[in-house]
Amino acid sequence: ACPFDSMNERSELDQVKAAIADPDKIVVIQTAPAVRVGIGEEFGYEPGSFLEGKMIGALRALGADYVVDTNFGADLTIMEEASELIERVINGHGELPQFTSCCPAWVKFAETYYPEYLPNISTTRSCIAMEAAVLKTYFAEKMKLDPEKIVSVSVAPCTAKKFEIRRPEQNKSAEYWGKEDLRDTDYCITTREFAKWIRESGVDFTQVEESTMDKYIGAETGGSVIFCNTGGVMEAAMRSAYKFITGNEPSPEPFTNLQDVRGMEGVKEADVEIGGKTLKVAVVHGGKNIRDFLDNMKATGKKYDFIEMMACRGGCIGGGGQPRVKMPVADKVKSARIEGIYKADAEMKLRSSYENPEIKAIYEEFLGKPLGERSEELLHTHYTDRSADLGVRKDVTPETCPTSPKFKK
Ligand code: SF4
Repeated sequence: ACPFDSMNERSELDQVKAAIADPDKIVVIQTAPAVRVGIGEEFGYEPGSFLEGKMIGALRALGADYVVDTNFGADLTIMEEASELIERVINGHGELPQFTSCCPAWVKFAETYYPEYLPNISTTRSCIAMEAAVLKTYFAEKMKLDPEKIVSVSVAPCTAKKFEIRRPEQNKSAEYWGKEDLRDTDYCITTREFAKWIRESGVDFTQVEESTMDKYIGAETGGSVIFCNTGGVMEAAMRSAYKFITGNEPSPEPFTNLQDVRGMEGVKEADVEIGGKTLKVAVVHGGKNIRDFLDNMKATGKKYDFIEMMACRGGCIGGGGQPRVKMPVADKVKSARIEGIYKADAEMKLRSSYENPEIKAIYEEFLGKPLGERSEELLHTHYTDRSADLGVRKDVTPETCPTSPKFKK
């Protein structure tokens, strides 16, 4: 069995189609950062084509009532995660290093194999989970929608998200409204399932009219755009941490161009100077790299402040639900997707999460402040030690196990 629980793609497309056909339901679809740079490959576009407008237009053509952006959720994630990092690094509250928490496959892997690191994982929920929580609370209130009629759908590059949305602690809107049947995210479909849906419905993706996101939870910045590739979460967090610590805008070099954490190398490290303090950061992607990195960190006692962990090679642009690419061209295609993402980031007027006007509005009108009472209630979570799932082989003892130092021939 896949330790990341990400090898099976259980389709929920029929349930999504049924919700669209039901006049009593309000279908709100959020789209993850990597989908817009992956979907085009299913319709003959070159790898790396950034097709945000067409992606939204296709969802509207398929009958979505509203389309909102997981990128907004990514900016929200950065606001909370960078604030949490400052609490740990500057104010000494919490364990170091802080690990990122947006990859559910990494989180489940740590819960199962490295539970000793659970206090180190940021309590910040993933960008999809954040978007879903504010979708059925803040967005529902602003748009005057009945949260019980909303069907919340995530289109994601990720098969592990299908597991994450069913974790019981992920239903924050149920607590908010006092209605225990509410789920923050009702269904998750992958980029490939989205493409299948487009084809089956007869929508011509190449001809579809481009569209834009709905307001309140639909604005993005360069910081959220780069969230989907290896190093992107780290770079976005550094941009905002710089602002929060120094009060100044991050300079173009290195903060909006943090080259040391970019690229396809499996483990990348950097020293980032912020306000007279040097943050030791690392970026790791790919399952084997994660295991090797943690074992090495334990063995050497090497110290870090912040570590980005992504289970898929290349990050979410290489997720299990993205259009399939085979070796030996896989890395070439992933690099093209990454290039498309950094190009879109460089062309954006707003590059950092704290600049997002809708992020400013949601804190002013609804959340209060990062790590404030309502933010903690809706946007943070906890983790579970699952090491017992591994079970104990009663028939094997240290003396009979060939890999044990106590093994007796
Ligand atoms: Fe999902 Fe892979 Fe991204 Fe992790 S790295 S969130 S498993 S797509």
